[in-house]
Amino acid sequence: MKTKPLTKTAVRVYEAVRAFIADTGRSPTYEEIYEGSGVDPNTVTSALSQLEKRGKIVRPVKGLIAIPGQPIPNPPIRVKLGYQRRTEKRKRECLTCGGDFDSEWNGNRVCKPCKTSSTWVSSQSNDYSTPGLRSA
Ligand SMILES: [Zn+2]
Repeated sequence: MKTKPLTKTAVRVYEAVRAFIADTGRSPTYEEIYEGSGVDPNTVTSALSQLEKRGKIVRPVKGLIAIPGQPIPNPPIRVKLGYQRRTEKRKRECLTCGGDFDSEWNGNRVCKPCKTSSTWVSSQSNDYSTPGLRSA
């Protein structure tokens, strides 16, 4: 079976991923691959599946990209934040509506009704950092 060479885009994505992991020790997010490679986010997705099919990268866990033969990198910051949540359940003031609600953890600052509103979801899609946890 003859294999086609990788597309230039896939090579760029691969180089960006490899450089990112070497530099930070963690797996990049799509956003970071985009920043590192200049390849637009939609193309990043197809480039990654191409690379995965060729065995250039592996994805042992959803959202985690690793280079075969190299140590498994740390998860991307966005994924990692989920694990760093401190379970400090208490009443907190919602940042959106200002009402008190039962907050699950210290970074949980928007009440459930606000969270499910479309405004919050759309503004959140561009927010890859959680204030206060960024410097971790
Ligand atoms: Zn609210």
